[in-house]
Amino acid sequence: MPGEPFIFIVVLILGLAAFFFSILYILARVVGFVFSGLGRMLGGSGRRTPIGHGASAGLICPREGCRKVENRPARFCSQCGARLM
Ligand SMILES: [Zn+2]
Repeated sequence: MPGEPFIFIVVLILGLAAFFFSILYILARVVGFVFSGLGRMLGGSGRRTPIGHGASAGLICPREGCRKVENRPARFCSQCGARLM
């Protein structure tokens, strides 16, 4: 029976690989959670900026009745000319 040890080794390697990848997955989850928590702590420590960090996208005109969304890095509203924050 020369095949049995080979099958045993293959199963062992597959099991180890699955174990290894599950560990990696858990580590990635933990690291992602820690980093998102850190970002929340660092970002939320100062004044609250709802759409500040994007900078390149997601600017909304502050003028009532306009509220145009600028998807480009703009300083002034392209519709009414109001200064964007
Ligand atoms: Zn506007």
